[in-house]
Amino acid sequence: MSQVGRASKHLKGKVEEEQTCPVPQEEEEEVRVLTLPLQAHHAMEKMEEFVYKVWEGRWRVIPYDVLPDWLKDNDYLLHGHRPPMPSFRACFKSIFRIHTETGNIWTHLLGFVLFLFLGILTMLRPNMYFMAPLQEKVVFGMFFLGAVLCLSFSWLFHTVYCHSEKVSRTFSKLDYSGIALLIMGSFVPWLYYSFYCSPQPRLIYLSIVCVLGISAIIVAQWDRFATPKHRQTRAGVFLGLGLSGVVPTMHFTIAEGFVKATTVGQMGWFFLMAVMYITGAGLYAARIPERFFPGKFDIWFQSHQIFHVLVVAAAFVHFYGVSNLQEFRYGLEGGCTDDSLL
Ligand SMILES: [Zn+2]
Repeated sequence: MSQVGRASKHLKGKVEEEQTCPVPQEEEEEVRVLTLPLQAHHAMEKMEEFVYKVWEGRWRVIPYDVLPDWLKDNDYLLHGHRPPMPSFRACFKSIFRIHTETGNIWTHLLGFVLFLFLGILTMLRPNMYFMAPLQEKVVFGMFFLGAVLCLSFSWLFHTVYCHSEKVSRTFSKLDYSGIALLIMGSFVPWLYYSFYCSPQPRLIYLSIVCVLGISAIIVAQWDRFATPKHRQTRAGVFLGLGLSGVVPTMHFTIAEGFVKATTVGQMGWFFLMAVMYITGAGLYAARIPERFFPGKFDIWFQSHQIFHVLVVAAAFVHFYGVSNLQEFRYGLEGGCTDDSLL
């Protein structure tokens, strides 16, 4: 039977039921017994109808209160949520609809395209622009791999987040692991060029950031890491991973002096990158601005979107700083003096 036929039959049944009321006292008990399986049957039909509508793309956004627990993440976003849609086709089609995740999907989908493009351009640059082409391309490649994986896991997660509890949990773990990969990847070219002439501290710092990054990825596999209760824990873990860069920064600044650190060391750009990243994590953890105006940022300018934009901007600023370091190295023709890290 077609869905429409079923629905109309279901409606007719309901009308007939209503017409038979009121029920005489002695029959009441019997009717109550009969309505239970009937109700279950109607619920099943409603469910089938809903699945069919989702498949057709005929779903509507719903308010926060009616979301199932596993979709309840931010209670300051009052309306405009996608309903649970256990169909990947429906989830991917929702990229082109307006709801609470539209901005989150697009900010990182466009960021992903930008970094994929930048990465390909950097990898295809002629070898004559590098002092050690193979090593330098590997080092830049790690940064782009981190950025591209982070951004693609992120937009994929936000797209399939409403699929089902299991899918949302799996993809949220990928999303968090992606952030750790981006941070680890960002450290690689920065440490490579900043400590170009001192391989020992360079190796030590690279090893430490790898251990910390892998630890963050392991922590992100914990099922409760993704729950709203641990929003601050998440911000803290990734902030801590990023802030581990303070140690090599201090090392560099003390050894080379403040002037050299801010000029050839590009510390101004890396400082800007850190400010953007920390601001993003802060807004994310505190859920600003929607905390102050619940329901006003349901679709656009919610904290998560601002955080997404700041992540892309920070990664871009980082790439710019690292490119300047690379250019400086190229200008020196690969030479090292006795008393320099750089
Ligand atoms: Zn996100």
